[in-house]
Amino acid sequence: MALDQATLDALLDTVRRFVRDRLMPLEAQVAREDRIPNEIVAQMRELGLFGMTIPEQFGGLGLNTTEECHVVMELGRTSPAFRSVIGTNNGIGSQGLVMDGTQAQKAHYLPKMASGEIIGSFALTEPDAGSDAGSLKTSARPDNGGYRINGTKRYITNAPQAQLFTVFARTDPNTAGSKGVSAFLVDAASKGITLGVPNRKMGQQGAHVCDVIFDDCWVPDEALLGGPSNLNKGFLTAMKTLDRGRLHISALAVGCAERLLNDSLNYALERKQFGEPIAQFQLIQAMLADSRAEAYAARCMVLDAARRRDSGESVTTLASCCKLFASEMVGRVADRAVQIFGGAGYMEEYGIERFYRDVRLFRIYEGTSQIQQMLIARNMIRDAGG
Ligand SMILES: Cc1cc2nc3c(=O)[nH]c(=O)nc-3n(C[C@H](O)[C@H](O)[C@H](O)COP(=O)(O)OP(=O)(O)OC[C@H]3O[C@@H](n4cnc5c(N)ncnc54)[C@H](O)[C@@H]3O)c2cc1C
Repeated sequence: MALDQATLDALLDTVRRFVRDRLMPLEAQVAREDRIPNEIVAQMRELGLFGMTIPEQFGGLGLNTTEECHVVMELGRTSPAFRSVIGTNNGIGSQGLVMDGTQAQKAHYLPKMASGEIIGSFALTEPDAGSDAGSLKTSARPDNGGYRINGTKRYITNAPQAQLFTVFARTDPNTAGSKGVSAFLVDAASKGITLGVPNRKMGQQGAHVCDVIFDDCWVPDEALLGGPSNLNKGFLTAMKTLDRGRLHISALAVGCAERLLNDSLNYALERKQFGEPIAQFQLIQAMLADSRAEAYAARCMVLDAARRRDSGESVTTLASCCKLFASEMVGRVADRAVQIFGGAGYMEEYGIERFYRDVRLFRIYEGTSQIQQMLIARNMIRDAGG
């Protein structure tokens, strides 16, 4: 539901102050300790951040896509690891349930996800099925009033903290592609689930991923997301979830770019060489201007696609365009920021190299840049009747 402008402004102002006063001062500590303090998670709960996109009837804020993107741009102004804590509950970990869950499934899980009492994770990727997710091998075989799940999921965000997994598994062993896949809601405490050791990553310390291994894990029939009519339709749920998720990641990339630009500009104004601020040098100005123009372009794209989605348009192609452009754009902005900071940009204490590593992920998860290019071109060719 769309908020009135005053309510949205108040929410954005609250998030902006939370980011500036509480999160920014903790960036270095979180990176060093690879851990977000419990009191910060508690404050995120109080602010309703875990349930931004969960409908109000289930205790969430019920933000539409445009409103969500505005909030995420604010959250992007600090280390993306903070956003990751609430990312799955708002995006890939809850939206399958919001869009395709049965009333009973929504009533059971969504209020707890909205409050942050439980964390939801999205388990699609496997050791041999990344970009080609439709080839996944994890199986779910009918057994005794339910299904028995076997397989390994890889790089699952928030898995070490999760209480609920949306697991994609093959229910039709005779179909090799995406058509024989179903989605299941699996309690993390179920017998037969073990977690791998959290992966050591290039960036975003404080956000955790690991393998999730299903070894004869039995779940009841009620765990099939959307009920029996959704059998073998789980991949459609995954793709719908990713449409919104890609806009979310694009908005995050915009926020990070704006933060990096702000830091770059301030540094360029303060740092003097050859007797004047480096901001006076046209070669520095060119980098600032390119970053400003590109960040603005991405902001406009994301908000346009979000508005179209809110008005009921299908935005699959546009969401891919946003993800491709915004994630590549923030990579260039981060690279220029390192350059503008010079040696300081390479040093840990200034935090720029940390952002440079953190934003690298945006070009990889929720579909790599190459996969976005493929999707965009494929849809163009289809729409042209080719
Ligand atoms: C930190 C992190 C968190 C993640 N969180 C989650 C999560 O919560 N849930 C989840 O399910 N997954 C998650 N993932 C997995 C992520 O979505 C995949 O890593 C991603 O989709 C790419 O798959 P892959 O790593 O297997 O790479 P691959 O698919 O092996 O790709 C390797 C390279 O080949 C390219 N490529 C592949 N196919 C083509 C093609 N047809 N044409 C051109 N180029 C191609 C890719 O673009 C890439 O450059 C996460 C990954 C990371 C790193």
